[in-house]
Amino acid sequence: MTEIIQPRAGILDIEPYKGGASTAEGVANPVKLSSNENPYGPPAAAVEAVRRAAARLHRYPPTDHAALRAAIGAAHGVDPERVVCGVGSDEIIALLCQAYAGPGAEVIHTEHGFSMYRISALASGATPVEVPERERTTDVDAILGAVTQATRLVFIANPNNPTGTMIGEAEVARLADGLPPHVLLVLDGAYAEYAEGFDGGAALVDARENVVMTRTFSKIYGLGGLRVGWGYGPAHVADVLGRIRGPFNLSLPALVAAEAALGDTAFIERCRSENARLRAFLAEALAAHGVPSDPSHANFVLARFADEAEARACDTFLKAEGLIVRPVAGYKLPNCLRITVGDESACRRVAHTIGRFKAEAA
Ligand SMILES: *Cc1c(COP(=O)(O)O)cnc(C)c1O
Repeated sequence: MTEIIQPRAGILDIEPYKGGASTAEGVANPVKLSSNENPYGPPAAAVEAVRRAAARLHRYPPTDHAALRAAIGAAHGVDPERVVCGVGSDEIIALLCQAYAGPGAEVIHTEHGFSMYRISALASGATPVEVPERERTTDVDAILGAVTQATRLVFIANPNNPTGTMIGEAEVARLADGLPPHVLLVLDGAYAEYAEGFDGGAALVDARENVVMTRTFSKIYGLGGLRVGWGYGPAHVADVLGRIRGPFNLSLPALVAAEAALGDTAFIERCRSENARLRAFLAEALAAHGVPSDPSHANFVLARFADEAEARACDTFLKAEGLIVRPVAGYKLPNCLRITVGDESACRRVAHTIGRFKAEAA
């Protein structure tokens, strides 16, 4: 047998990330409610910006992202000097692990936390440490209890995916205050815009040296296909990430589209209010059919079934009707299906179809 080169320890423990399904066998135009995408498409201003950028594709994009960072600063009330832009917030998560974790380090994430935390920790050579949640909600005491001398990063998404639950600002501050100085707290705010009156943790970043926030253009800004996200941290963290990111990580179309999207405030406001209205409708309709869910602060609802068999059967039933949702057994929630809040017609269809499923099973 010939010896072949082996990757670093931990790499082969990575289960490659699986995105939400987008096709259903035998259905021509399925409704995709499996990836928490914006049902209203990209903002028109972003589409127009990409069209205009097409004529300049022979030019390298700017490396400092200055225009986009200034627009982010103005839109979100943050200091542009401490904003770092990435190829989706996934890249910011990976850069944080690369910079602060690595072999010998421990990276804490929660029981039902976003899978990229574990993947990026392992990719850096670090050891992911999973801590329990309480009733599908981040448990600050469990996290603090898991911290060791080797801990470097703690990732929590607030609101969390796939649970949709969130912890309050006082709890997040208690977590930040309880961490020793050798640990960085990362607040993933991918769904922050959907939570009423929430800054994603920006004020906490400004008040501490050990807190970083990540944000994305993939959800409410409707640009998942372009891959733009950003991190906001203390100056020392922004400096570190700026040294290791690729100089041309964001393409020209990505930069101009994200900047344009920030300016389309009417679109964003409509997405926020429609999401809130339809999320309430969906949760109530499902509850009326005997399918409970936790109060969601995001753009999806985590529907809870009696057991794994019922969740699987419902997923199959929905798929046959052209409705694609997300099974979350991989997130230790085998009896649940995560359903993106779509537009009104999608929400009505999915609620009605789950009602039929429950009636036929009864
Ligand atoms: C969707 C999502 C993101 C966004 O990732 P991008 O790389 O910015 O598309 C980040 N964190 C969580 C928890 C998410 O659900």
